[in-house]
Amino acid sequence: MTPLAAALIRRIAAAGPIGVADYMAECLLHPEHGYYTTRDPLGAAGDFTTAPEISQMFGECLGLALAQAWLDQGAPGRVVLAELGPGRGTLMADVLRSARAVPGFRAALSVHLVEASPVLRARQAATLADAAPTWHDRIEDLPEGPLFLLANEFFDALPIRQFLRDTAGWRERQVGLVDGKLAFGLSAPAPLAALAHRLADTRPGDMVETCPAAAPVAAEIGRRIAAHGGAALVVDYGGWHSLGDTLQAVRGHAPEDVLANPGAADLTAHVDFEALARAAAPARSTAMVTQGVLLERLGITARAQALAARLGGAALESHVAAHRRLTHPDEMGSVFKAISFHPETTPPPPGFA
Ligand code: SAH
Repeated sequence: MTPLAAALIRRIAAAGPIGVADYMAECLLHPEHGYYTTRDPLGAAGDFTTAPEISQMFGECLGLALAQAWLDQGAPGRVVLAELGPGRGTLMADVLRSARAVPGFRAALSVHLVEASPVLRARQAATLADAAPTWHDRIEDLPEGPLFLLANEFFDALPIRQFLRDTAGWRERQVGLVDGKLAFGLSAPAPLAALAHRLADTRPGDMVETCPAAAPVAAEIGRRIAAHGGAALVVDYGGWHSLGDTLQAVRGHAPEDVLANPGAADLTAHVDFEALARAAAPARSTAMVTQGVLLERLGITARAQALAARLGGAALESHVAAHRRLTHPDEMGSVFKAISFHPETTPPPPGFA
């Protein structure tokens, strides 16, 4: 049993069941035993791999899209380049390298990272030493100004609540105890004003998820972009309008029971892009696109060919596999989606037209 499982069992035995969001928050960010608090989970030796860890092309494409948005907005002289949940700092490093290709962009940027994990902050400090980033606990702490923002696989780590529709209302999914072990249960049914709009498209037996932490973050991004200019690129797995149980645990690159190893497995849930887009007003939201389509529109195939010309043997094979993995519909190409927020008065970043 993990140390966090023991702590949760004691807590639930004393005070009763907890909601899924509370469970997820404890698992991911418990100050002593949390998953992100205690480790760097990325890469082959870790639990999962993300797009920037697969190939530099991901960050290069997104970096040039942000640079074009900056040019389209009149190349402001001082802008905030921010990333939410920057992992190992790989995406930011690739973005900064590609930014150098656009005269003036790199010099206009100050780099800001919103990161909860002390272990990953140390990793980012090593990767991004030349960029002299500033770390923040919360998005609200970023300096005001034109905001160019990246978030890849950040929103999927924010705790969700799950509600099962019942004939008499909604029952919230909870984590309680059965025979002394963690087990899912349901609260008593109650009507919920916050889910009234989901009565039309669900039936008894359906589950819907909400992510209470996501909307305030999207709202803060939208407020800043509408007030000062800028653009946000959000990439994550998920869809438009949440439906069904999407909570999952991954450890050692394999799915496992969500309750099996609290604090030792990554927990994520699909991102509801519709909820992000609604919350980001007064900034304008683009349509949601798949990661594969976005990267193709941003020229990943030309970039892949240019890089391939310098490679041979196993390096070439793994480069070709990485291109496929990022873009192909059977791999990350369709399950991952992207959306952008930009000011009403400026064109959307390239790739989102
Ligand atoms: N974007 C990176 C890492 C994705 S993993 C990549 O694509 O490789 C999720 C990241 O979000 C990690 O850096 C994790 O520590 C961070 N994170 C998770 N919850 C967070 C929170 N509530 N506040 C800030 N950072 C968080």
